[in-house]
Amino acid sequence: MKILVINSGSSSIKYKLYQSIGGDHDFNLLAQGGADRIGIAGASVDCKKPDSEKVHQYLELPDHKTAITAIFQMLTDPEKGVLKSLSDLAGVGHRVVHGGEDFTASVLLNGDVVESIRKNSVLAPLHNPPNLMGIQAVYELYPDMPQVAVFDTAIHQTMPPKAYLYGLPKEQYTVHKIRRYGFHGTSHGYVAKAAAKELKRPFEKLKIITCHLGNGGSLTAFDGGKSVDTSMGLTPLAGILMGTRSGDLDPYIPLHIMETQGLGAEQVSAMMNKQGGLLGLCGKRDMRDVLEGYEKGYEGCIEALEIFVYSIQKYIGAYAAVMNGVDAIVFTAGIGENVPLIREKVLENFGYLGVKINKRSNAANKTLISAKGSKVKVLVIHTDEEKVIASDAFAIIKAKKK
Ligand code: ADP
Repeated sequence: MKILVINSGSSSIKYKLYQSIGGDHDFNLLAQGGADRIGIAGASVDCKKPDSEKVHQYLELPDHKTAITAIFQMLTDPEKGVLKSLSDLAGVGHRVVHGGEDFTASVLLNGDVVESIRKNSVLAPLHNPPNLMGIQAVYELYPDMPQVAVFDTAIHQTMPPKAYLYGLPKEQYTVHKIRRYGFHGTSHGYVAKAAAKELKRPFEKLKIITCHLGNGGSLTAFDGGKSVDTSMGLTPLAGILMGTRSGDLDPYIPLHIMETQGLGAEQVSAMMNKQGGLLGLCGKRDMRDVLEGYEKGYEGCIEALEIFVYSIQKYIGAYAAVMNGVDAIVFTAGIGENVPLIREKVLENFGYLGVKINKRSNAANKTLISAKGSKVKVLVIHTDEEKVIASDAFAIIKAKKK
């Protein structure tokens, strides 16, 4: 069975085409690519097969429907494509950022589901509407194509109220749905389960802290196989310091800035989301650049790296506290998978919990980086959010066919 995974943004669409090869979670990547600059001059589509050159084509893409058409044409091109025809495709899996309280797992798309995603757009105005444009475009072009929605928020719906309610008048939650939702759910769930498998222990019997450290970053506490807390909140701005996002702030700071500096909501939002984080502190948003500055002894980079590490340590400490212990800590995503220095620095404060690092394994980005005899196991697991989406879509579409 072949599954297409789509991540539809406001002016771009990214896709990966997978072929299932046996088990529900085993897939080969057949092709990947995207449509870029949708609705803007200079639009293009591309397709790359694992062992060949990228095929790139400039063309007009006024909207998501033309972009999806162009992607499907490229995939079914008799010479350079990978599908004989669209009937080769079992279905499409879509990344949907916000499922609100309506979705606790991935679902087959239908009119009601689309309506719920639309309703939850108020919680993710920058993400859900473009996600929906991708869904709608596929539906209009191929109404019979099974489509599955996989939500970033779904896995965190198991959090108890003490973790997701904020200290605001209750109607802010009951009427306006203001609560902690959390994000990066596909990644956290995947690496937590993979860690349990690696440790040959049942996921349901473990306390695991997962650290997804990419441009955006978040930590999740899994107890008994369920997300019990996570560092992002109503929006992906909360939690640890990120590439350009501030992470946690005194909640009054935005209001204080607006009151004293005469800035509007949009400007303060840009400051917190796009001009903050590592970028705001040292002028570099990419961890590779921050590390280069750190190695050269630049004060701003040293300070930014320390703040980044400190913000992660605080969440690990907090999650070990609320779970009354921790069996495993997992690092994933660009920074989590590739930067031994950051893992080492983050973990140096947790000797008291029973964390011991094998420096050589850590330096080599091995899967198990804790030392023999370390009470808490530490793992580095490569995340693959698209593969999780493919796997969920595959399982749902297969069940529907039965
Ligand atoms: P996202 O999916 O959120 O865009 P990624 O998971 O790709 O993010 O992570 C991007 C971050 O990971 C960037 O800060 C980048 O510098 C960092 N990163 C990726 N690879 C490396 C590496 N080999 N060494 C240091 N940092 C890396």
